[in-house]
Amino acid sequence: MHCPFCSAVDTKVIDSRLVSEGSSVRRRRQCLMCHERFTTFEVAELVMPRVVKSNDVREPFNEDKLGSGMMKALEKRPVNSDDVENAISHIKTQLRATGEREVPSKMIGNLVMDELKKLDKVAYIRFASVYRSFEDIREFGEEIARLQD
Ligand SMILES: [Zn+2]
Repeated sequence: MHCPFCSAVDTKVIDSRLVSEGSSVRRRRQCLMCHERFTTFEVAELVMPRVVKSNDVREPFNEDKLGSGMMKALEKRPVNSDDVENAISHIKTQLRATGEREVPSKMIGNLVMDELKKLDKVAYIRFASVYRSFEDIREFGEEIARLQD
């Protein structure tokens, strides 16, 4: 990269080390022209897609919101926090893997349901009943019957 002091093109790396438990690299550089030193950080770009809600409003992906929605469904259920953490990180990985800059909120809802289904059937039904707002009790019963297969 160019020197931030004199804009010279050539700079050299004089020191390089891993920081933040290996998730980024800190490099000390020196300009070959003016000899000023500066630091750069290199981190992997892991950008979450933005969320498009059903009313077409866009909002940034919000992990806290995702987590609290899941925790609400899992209230008083025998599921440990590590498993919930893993489920959340699995959802994030799948969202990033789409390579899309925007994803519909419906897609996130479906990913959450997939994870909850694996974690705890009761939590899944709680979440699905709110999220899908089952039209009537029969539809709800059919979903439960499907789970028992
Ligand atoms: Zn320079």
